[in-house]
Amino acid sequence: MLEIRNLHVSVDDKPILRGIDLTIRAGEVHAIMGPNGSGKSTLAHVLAGRDNYAVTAGEVRYEGRNLLDLPPEERARNGIFLAFQYPVEIPGVANIYLLKAAVNARRLHRGEPELDAVDFLALVKGKLQLMGMDTSLLYRAVNEGFSGGEKKRNEILQMAVLEPKLAILDETDSGLDIDALQVVAGGISAMRSPERAIVLVTHYQRLLNYIVPDHVHVLSQGRIALSGGRELALELEKHGYGWIEAEASHQA
Ligand code: ADP
Ligand code: MG
Ligand code: MG
Repeated sequence: MLEIRNLHVSVDDKPILRGIDLTIRAGEVHAIMGPNGSGKSTLAHVLAGRDNYAVTAGEVRYEGRNLLDLPPEERARNGIFLAFQYPVEIPGVANIYLLKAAVNARRLHRGEPELDAVDFLALVKGKLQLMGMDTSLLYRAVNEGFSGGEKKRNEILQMAVLEPKLAILDETDSGLDIDALQVVAGGISAMRSPERAIVLVTHYQRLLNYIVPDHVHVLSQGRIALSGGRELALELEKHGYGWIEAEASHQA
C-alpha cells in the first residue's frame, strides 16, 4: 500500500528526515516510536501533504502512484487520513458539517451516492457511541473549546466515519487518562481490517498494550534506527531511548 524509499525531508533548510525506508501493507498495524524531536510528526505530515516540508530526496508510492505528486485533498480522497498530534480548531464550522462534507467527498470519489442528513446522522451516532462522546459535540465548532481528551476522541471519530485505507495517528494517546486511552484504543482497534493499514505514532508503549502492532519502528535523528515486533516496544519501555540514540549518533 505504502512504499517509502530513502526519504529525506527538510524544514527551513534544516534536514529533519535523513533517509527513511518503510513498507506498509494492507492489514498491517505499524507503530512508529522514538524520542521527542526524532521526526515522527514530520513523517506523518509529509505523508498527509502538509505545507512547509521540502522533500529533498527519495520517493513515496501509495497504491503504486507517486504520492508526493498529489495535493493533500487528493490524498484524503484516495483514503489517507491523518489524526493530528495537536488537532486544529475551526471556529465557525460545525463538527457535523465538516464530517458530512468529508464523508461525502470520499463517497463521490468512490462512485457511491452521497449520504443524506438522516443516513449520515445514523452513521455518525453509532460511532459517537463507540467513542463515548456526547451528541452535543457534533453541533459545536470543530474542536473549539474541546478538552484534550475530546479532541483526541474527535480525531478517531473522524477516522471511524471516513473509513480510510491508510490511517496515520500522531500521538493520539498523548494526554489521555487511562479511561479515555481505553476508549480511544477501542475505537482504533475496531478499525483494524485486512483492507486497511494503521500507523500509530507514539512516544510511549502503553497504547500498544491495547493495540498490538505487527511492526514497531524506532525513529532516531531522522532515521529508522531499529525495527522489530511488538517486543521492541516493551524493550523501549524498560530501557528508554538513550541506547538507540547513542548508537545512531555513533553511526552518523
Ligand atoms: P517528533 O514528532 O518526533 O517529536 P518532529 O517531527 O515534530 O518530531 O520534529 C523533528 C525536528 O524537526 C525537531 O528538531 C523540530 O524542532 C524540527 N521541526 C519540526 N517542525 C519544524 C518547523 N516547522 N520549523 C523548524 N523546525 C521544525
Ligand atoms: Mg514530539
Ligand atoms: Mg510529534
